[in-house]
Amino acid sequence: MKCRCCGSTNVIKYGKLKSGKRVYYCKDCHRYWVENATFSKYPDSVRNRAVSLVKQGKSVREVSKELLIPKSTIYKWVAKTCDEER
Ligand SMILES: [Zn+2]
Repeated sequence: MKCRCCGSTNVIKYGKLKSGKRVYYCKDCHRYWVENATFSKYPDSVRNRAVSLVKQGKSVREVSKELLIPKSTIYKWVAKTCDEER
């Protein structure tokens, strides 16, 4: 198992959700994530586009309008996205 943020293998199983999905914790970048977690109903391409627009300096509000995605969803994506490009 590799960290889905930094790619480190310094990862531990942290616990389990009620749904049975495992939660992992990366000791290197100190992030948690859930196995096979889906961010939302939006495909990765939409998510990546939204995140990259924000990174390019657009405001979340602009991106929200442009891609018709709720602002709260974009905030979640941005928060969960790692700094490294993958
Ligand atoms: Zn990591």
